[in-house]
Amino acid sequence: MKVLVVNAGSSSLKYQLIDMETEKVIAKGGCERIGIAGSLLKAKGNGKEKVFEQDMPNHKVAIELVLHALRDKEVGVIKSMEEIGAVGHRMVASGEFFNKTTLVTPEVIKTLEEKTFELAPLHNPPAVTGVKACLEVMPNTPMALVFDTSFHSTMPEKAYLYGVAYEDYKDYGVRKYGFHGTSHKFVSQEAAKYLKKAPKDLKIVTCHLGNGSSISAVDGGKCVDTSMGFTPLAGVLMGTRSGDMDPSAVEFLARKKGLSHADVITYLNKKCGVAGISGVSSDFRDLIAGAQQGNKRCALALDMFEYQTKKFIGSYAAAMGGLDCIVFTAGIGENTPVVRAGVLEGLEFLGVKLDKAANEAKNDGTIHEISAKDSRVKVLVIPTNEELVIARETAELL
Ligand code: AMP
Repeated sequence: MKVLVVNAGSSSLKYQLIDMETEKVIAKGGCERIGIAGSLLKAKGNGKEKVFEQDMPNHKVAIELVLHALRDKEVGVIKSMEEIGAVGHRMVASGEFFNKTTLVTPEVIKTLEEKTFELAPLHNPPAVTGVKACLEVMPNTPMALVFDTSFHSTMPEKAYLYGVAYEDYKDYGVRKYGFHGTSHKFVSQEAAKYLKKAPKDLKIVTCHLGNGSSISAVDGGKCVDTSMGFTPLAGVLMGTRSGDMDPSAVEFLARKKGLSHADVITYLNKKCGVAGISGVSSDFRDLIAGAQQGNKRCALALDMFEYQTKKFIGSYAAAMGGLDCIVFTAGIGENTPVVRAGVLEGLEFLGVKLDKAANEAKNDGTIHEISAKDSRVKVLVIPTNEELVIARETAELL
């Protein structure tokens, strides 16, 4: 079966067509500037790349163009739409309404719209627009929703509750949900396979470090805690997000800067994190270059990121009562040896011993072990593959 994985944003729609027999991506691409002048689709297939410059006023036109590209003479990989056995949609937030991959039905869409939009106003509405567009264009193809939050639904109450009145959780759903679940699930399962151990016998901390970063504690194959919270603003500081801070300072900052509640949250999402600390960039490549050239604030931003990530690893080892493996993944986790070394420095007391040469070795896109042979805790770099998880879950559900 071939599964089309769709990840729709407000003005973008990324896709991959995956052949489930081989688990290989046979075509991929993305529509950009949907609803904005100058929209285009960049499509890859058959080892070629082609740009389709076409007006895309909405997501329906975008998905139609994707289906056209999948059947194109040059970059096309299928003859007819019927070859697509199912569509898997990435959905960011589920609230407590869905705790697993779910088949798309009219009731499910209604629940998403009525209950989850306010939980993820930037992500869920455009994703649902993408689902509806696909339903219009491919009404007979089964579709599944794969939630970023599902993997975290196993967290115990003591981990996901905030210290607010219990009624605020019951009445409004104010709690930690966590994000990047498909990635944490994938890399923790890959780690178990690599270590030739059953997931139930492993205590793993997975560090998904990218533009958005989150760290999870995976005990016996189940997520027991994670650093992101009610929204993806929580946890370590990120590219442009502040990460955890005292809520009183948020109100103070809003007052000082003359910002509304909504605007101060936008500020903490878009203008803070390592970009705000360094004053240079949200991109770790720029920060590393800046620090090497003596820019103290770039060095400080890197130091803070490494320190905060290290603290999560330590606290999750304590929460799980042990640690067998640390996994690094995503843009920074997979590509920045200097950050990995900074995160791991000082964790020798937990049984972590870095192999410096292995850590510096060039990323070849495969799993590699960067802990020393005699390190009690294994440290792995594992390329994440969220699309493959979405495709697998979709195929399994069907
Ligand atoms: P992601 O959100 O997973 O795509 O990660 C994006 C971040 O990863 C970028 O902001 C960069 O800071 C970092 N990144 C990606 N590739 C590299 C690289 N080759 N070297 C250093 N950092 C990288």
